Amino acid sequence: MTETDLRREIAKHQRIELLQNQKQQILRLIATGHPLAQIFDALTRVVVDLFPPSLCVIMVYDKSADCLRIGASPNVDKELQRLLDGAPITPHSNSFSAAAYHQKTVIVTDIAKDPTCGKTREIALRAGFKACWAHPTLSPSDRLFGVIGMYHREARGPSEEEMEFVIDVSDLVGIAIERDQVERRMRTLSSAIEQTDDTVMITDKEGIVEYVNPAYERTSGYSRDEVLGKNPNIVKSGHHDTAFYARLWDTIRCGDVFREVFINRRKDGVLFHEEKTITPIRDEQGEPIQYVSTGKDISERIEVQERLSHLAHHDALTDLGNRALLLDHLEEALALAQRNEHMVALLYLDLDRFKTINDSLGHSVGDSLLKAVAQRLHNCIRGGDTIARLGGDEFTVLLPNVHDVGGPAHVAQNLLEVLRPSIAVDGHEVFVNASIGITICPDDGNTAEDLLKCADLAMYRAKSAGGDAYEFFTEDMTVQTVRRLDMEHKLRYALERNEFSLHYQPRADIQSGQICGLEALLRWYQPELGEVAPVDFIPVLEETGLIIPVGEWVIQTACSYAQRLRAARLGMLRIAVNLSTRQFRDRNLVKSIEQCLQHSGLAGWHLELEITESLLIENIDTTIAILSELHAMGIHISIDDFGTGYSSLAYLKRYPIDTLKIDRAFVRDITTDEDDKAIVIAIISMSRSLGYSVIAEGVETKEQLAFLRLQGCDELQGNFLSRPLGAEDLEIWLSEQGFNLSGRAT
Ligand code: C2E
Ligand code: MG
Ligand code: MG
Repeated sequence: MTETDLRREIAKHQRIELLQNQKQQILRLIATGHPLAQIFDALTRVVVDLFPPSLCVIMVYDKSADCLRIGASPNVDKELQRLLDGAPITPHSNSFSAAAYHQKTVIVTDIAKDPTCGKTREIALRAGFKACWAHPTLSPSDRLFGVIGMYHREARGPSEEEMEFVIDVSDLVGIAIERDQVERRMRTLSSAIEQTDDTVMITDKEGIVEYVNPAYERTSGYSRDEVLGKNPNIVKSGHHDTAFYARLWDTIRCGDVFREVFINRRKDGVLFHEEKTITPIRDEQGEPIQYVSTGKDISERIEVQERLSHLAHHDALTDLGNRALLLDHLEEALALAQRNEHMVALLYLDLDRFKTINDSLGHSVGDSLLKAVAQRLHNCIRGGDTIARLGGDEFTVLLPNVHDVGGPAHVAQNLLEVLRPSIAVDGHEVFVNASIGITICPDDGNTAEDLLKCADLAMYRAKSAGGDAYEFFTEDMTVQTVRRLDMEHKLRYALERNEFSLHYQPRADIQSGQICGLEALLRWYQPELGEVAPVDFIPVLEETGLIIPVGEWVIQTACSYAQRLRAARLGMLRIAVNLSTRQFRDRNLVKSIEQCLQHSGLAGWHLELEITESLLIENIDTTIAILSELHAMGIHISIDDFGTGYSSLAYLKRYPIDTLKIDRAFVRDITTDEDDKAIVIAIISMSRSLGYSVIAEGVETKEQLAFLRLQGCDELQGNFLSRPLGAEDLEIWLSEQGFNLSGRAT
């Protein structure tokens, strides 16, 4: 080795050492996150230091514009910089673009002769550069990061050492750019995590909190400092059992993702629903080393869902369950009962006379009443039982686990009792009773549909027996229902087929024996059924509303008949007609009675209307108004079946009433039962003081007559005088001249 060679060798080693040192420094800059511009600047200076008098340029690939931009170019002519910056990546723009284009080192040994330099040639030459080398910086997957280039003042290619050096610098540029990109990505990622609305929590593998994002702080109410280093269970609400948490840990420890809705508790104590996903982060061996939990506060959604589900399963008026809820629970109970071999009872409850109350007091009172009833019923059932309102005034109580029929009977009795005290609604004191049907699975059926049907039938039986009672379902009830439906059907045609007629029962003055009136009583002869009793068909007429046209027919027929009797001079009789509550609430009632009087020519004071006490306790003001209107037409008003309802005598004073008819039930035992005797005496004496006349109904014996006469009762009606008679028989009976009651009685 010559001395020159030796010197060169030493210089080379010095350069290598220097380069190593510089590399270390630059790597430190990169590692400590210095800006790219600063790193590039340092790099280009190293080149110039080690290989004077060359110039170094670092170009960075701009992906969005698909061009190269200057990263660092100290001491480079301004005009050259302008041409290089943003030049398109083509083979002939300049040597850097060419290197980027070919993704290969481009060596221009003589700028003057090589077309590669394109437009930059003139300026480079003018600046005294003869050669130019460019080397692309690529990622491990050959993505273009940039180009490192050198201008040289001699027209030559790089030496091996120079080329190695260029590659070294290019590697450093690659590292710096890659690091910068990673950091940028990390920054985007972490600001995304910091800004997202979802809660994010990272724990170590023991579950100790290492990180929470601001959304977590907002949702939980705990600040970052309060949770870091702690266990996430500070938000535990106690709403999940240990099995829940065991399942959680079993899942994530195996490296699987756990997804659940957690009910957690905020720092201020309020519960919230969090839809959470806990994902294990695994090391190279697949072992979980950390857990990331992301969550969303879905309390509002859950609340809406719960509200919707509540609406779907509850009755809006009373907030009791509805039919859907009943069916759900009933199906469930039936399945369970079959497995465990116990019984299920279903109680079907229907309020008595609710329709009348609703029609007369108005729907808002009706609604308030239903709410109050619902509350009372609800208070009387136990936790596992289901109470539902099926609609209108129909309720059901499901007893899912019954061991003998005594249980449901007891519940039914309680339900009846709880309804008994009067209910104050909107200033009215209202009494409601109920009829309850009870059905038992498996005795009466195994399906929800069958049980509902049977319970309904049993309820119907309880109601037709007078209400305020419960009945168990029995087989014969189906037969009865069919019979009732058949009757309803036949009644619809009864009027047009002339199947109705009127019988008349005479009334007489108790002292003189003079016949003073008749009560018109409706009769129905149906060709297939024969004579049907009023107690059987009148309630059906009332329920179906047929009582309106039929009642009108009764008034019309009775008035015409009375007028005919008067014309035949058969007496100055007053004709009494029974009026149902339902009929009384017909808006046209007054008008239609007026028309009947007009058509028949009968004067108002020859007509008497018999109403029941129940009418008087409902919709008082309207009742008074209508009665007054009728009274003003001269029509007499009497209270039928007096003593069986709720009204006190004092109560009656407000109404324009003329007569009380003592109910048959009191008259029957008047001579033997001390209580009945006392009641009748009280009614007579008090009505006298109020100025009413009194009629005794159902007088059958002379003893009864004697007692009533003694007490000063005004009139009598009953089989003792005469049964109700058809028109023809009545006329014969009436024409028995010289009929004298006192004569017959003795
Ligand atoms: P009510 O208005 O109290 O009529 C008196 C009932 O007692 C009649 O029964 C009559 O036949 C019966 N009766 C009369 N005297 C005696 C007696 O001495 N002993 C016994 N045991 N009974 C006697 P009826 O005709 O079966 O009518 C029953 C009920 O049907 C009536 O009771 C009335 O509430 C209703 N009703 C009858 N006709 C009509 C009508 O046209 N319209 C309306 N809304 N209801 C009517
Ligand atoms: Mg009557
Ligand atoms: Mg009566």
